[in-house]
Amino acid sequence: MAGLFDEPSVKYARVAVERGVDQFPDGLTYGVPERLLPLNAGQLVTVPLGRGNTPTSAWVLSIRDEAPELAPGKETKQIYEKDRDTIALLPDILDLAIWMSQYYCAPIGPSLSTMLPGPVRQGTGIVTRQLVDLAENPPTDVRITPKQQVVLDTLANLPKHALPIEPSALMKLAGLGSKSPIDKLIAHKQLRCHRVSRIEATWFKQALDARVPQQLTDEQTNVIDAIGATVNTGYSSHLLFGVTGSGKTEIYIRLIQQAIAQGGTALVLVPEISLTPQTAARLMGRFPDKRIAILHSALTKSQRHQQWALVAEGKADIVLGARSAVFAPLQDEQLKIIIVDEEHDHSYKQDNAPRYNGRDVAIRRAWTAKCPIILGSATPSMESWWNATRRNVSTLHKLTKRAPGLTAPSIEVVDMRKERIHGEIGYPILSSRLQTAINQTLATEGQILLLLNRRGFAPWIACASRTCGWMLKCDHCDASMVYHRKKPLEQAGFVRCHHCSTEQRVPKTCPDCSKKVIQLGAGTQRVEAFLRESLQIPSEQISRLDTDTTRKASDLHTTLERFGAGEIRVLLGTQMIAKGLDFPNVKLVGIIDADTAIDLPDFRASERTYQLVSQVCGRCGRGEGSATAIIQTFSPDAPAIILASKTEYETFATNELQFRQNAFVPPACRMARFIIKDNSFERTAVRADSLLARLQSIDAIGMTFSPVAPCVLPRIADRFRFDLTVTSATSQSMQNFLQEARKIIKSGRDVAIDVDPLSML
Ligand code: ADP
Ligand code: ZN
Ligand code: ZN
Repeated sequence: MAGLFDEPSVKYARVAVERGVDQFPDGLTYGVPERLLPLNAGQLVTVPLGRGNTPTSAWVLSIRDEAPELAPGKETKQIYEKDRDTIALLPDILDLAIWMSQYYCAPIGPSLSTMLPGPVRQGTGIVTRQLVDLAENPPTDVRITPKQQVVLDTLANLPKHALPIEPSALMKLAGLGSKSPIDKLIAHKQLRCHRVSRIEATWFKQALDARVPQQLTDEQTNVIDAIGATVNTGYSSHLLFGVTGSGKTEIYIRLIQQAIAQGGTALVLVPEISLTPQTAARLMGRFPDKRIAILHSALTKSQRHQQWALVAEGKADIVLGARSAVFAPLQDEQLKIIIVDEEHDHSYKQDNAPRYNGRDVAIRRAWTAKCPIILGSATPSMESWWNATRRNVSTLHKLTKRAPGLTAPSIEVVDMRKERIHGEIGYPILSSRLQTAINQTLATEGQILLLLNRRGFAPWIACASRTCGWMLKCDHCDASMVYHRKKPLEQAGFVRCHHCSTEQRVPKTCPDCSKKVIQLGAGTQRVEAFLRESLQIPSEQISRLDTDTTRKASDLHTTLERFGAGEIRVLLGTQMIAKGLDFPNVKLVGIIDADTAIDLPDFRASERTYQLVSQVCGRCGRGEGSATAIIQTFSPDAPAIILASKTEYETFATNELQFRQNAFVPPACRMARFIIKDNSFERTAVRADSLLARLQSIDAIGMTFSPVAPCVLPRIADRFRFDLTVTSATSQSMQNFLQEARKIIKSGRDVAIDVDPLSML
């Protein structure tokens, strides 16, 4: 087809269309008519796609002068339009997206789109204002009233940087009651008008923490010297393994100081930032005169646009954000240091395409930017531990002691099997030991954190009859429905599926045998109700934090502020409360059920349990006096629980790596998971078998294939799911295999490819 206006093509562009199917990994070539020049790689255009020439957004990958060689009878289509308003991707970011698309076998178009937040693309928050200034050559034949003269004098006395100024601000400065003298001056050309566009966003008050420790510990000094020496010496990777409360953040701050003193930018990634507000408060408090851009999903659209633009204009000294901040529009040469805090955290992994891990993309960025990267954790991921202790591709730095002024909590394990109440079914929510400790802590004015990693009121609704066995399941998923109360103290409730969000009323009787239905197990709502009934403190001193209570980022801020001020004395929550909280008056941490991850059919079950238990226990002992952590479990002999209670990470990690090696699972090998989805069980099974056969036909050595099987959750939202995993000894052999696989398998709605998967459900 010739171009829309029958114009000749003067150049040719390779573009990636924005579609969720990995159909054209290398892009498509289109002609560029003269009127669209200049056109650069990284720009967004609209191209005709398919037989119907549907206008489709696409990213320009590269431009060249020569026409492509075509099969006889075929013609090159032309780009329709270019998107002028959008900021183009930087060349380094374009390269990063192309790498990411290859490494994670993700469609190229969406990988590129991931680099540019929606609000930037849409231009959200851009406001154009009229500002005024003194005219350079004002007409002299105009009569100036006394009020107008005040305006002119005020302007003349303002410092240069304050000009041009908003009319309303000028009105105030000149002490005027109305704007009309200013309007008259504009009309008489005594004042000049400027139209200025900027991105405006309102911010909620961010608490700052500017405290500086009097003296660094020897361990801290050693680490700062060792890593500091690598700033400006090219790529290097460091694992900072420091027990909770050992002062890792202080190390980050000192290293950032060094890096930005060289005129560069520091990139700091934290797990979901709205969950780690204290880290943000400390960074912002310690760099009051530096420009810090904050990027995370809880910002408003205008805020995101504004912060992104700050980075893109080269004005940020520090970029602080969650997972996707790894794509901040920084040029490689600008980047001087990258820090990934709590590097083990699973929120760094995105669970839809492109299924990237922010930590690993950050390592890639450090490598191309030739700068040091620091991965910090009290409970490093097995991958990072392996890299530092077995592969020697990363340097291990240790902080073995807590910072001065902090004490290690004494940790106790309670065997819940011995807590059975006589004559009753089931087990109490609180063991007698935890109950006593709560009362004691409340009596001595301490604060308490309680963890239960399960939302809702009751995780199961079942028939009261022992012989019936009926349980309420989601109509659309192979999962039980979770009972939620509408309000904490209200009896009426509903059930919700945590996989597809379907909700329904709870049946009063069992549909199979008409007996009564009962609620089994406890989620955070039930524990909250129990605490309100049983504790002898005013109800407003008890609060709950989970994704049901924190729909807005400000909810979380408010609760944490109230906890910090001592207004809340018992804070109950899901893993949200396990991350980075630093409150000195927490004297007791209770883990209501340490077993929520332990039995998952996932080779990382033990690692997750260790991390969760250890991280929550680390939230106490951050002030004066002693502190206690109590772990309730039905598996008191599980190594993860025993070792977490003794803070013996290295023993745990050594044993765990041995197990991973014996089982040949990551990090002892590389893994990719293929998930096949379809509308019927049989069809899904057949398609999964055929996918395996095709994968096995690829000419690649050293690949191991698992059998095809239904997923642990075989059906979600009426889609049946099968999976298979492929493993190989090295990343290189895995990549060779995947690039071949990508030519014959189109990932999209029906086949998901997850490279380096974290979830096996
Ligand atoms: P981590 O990130 O390793 O859990 P933090 O950086 O949060 O530890 O430090 C824990 C607490 O100890 C913080 O309140 C911090 O201000 C304080 N701290 C850090 N280093 C020192 C030091 N050298 N002397 C005294 N206090 C310190
Ligand atoms: Zn469901
Ligand atoms: Zn029944």
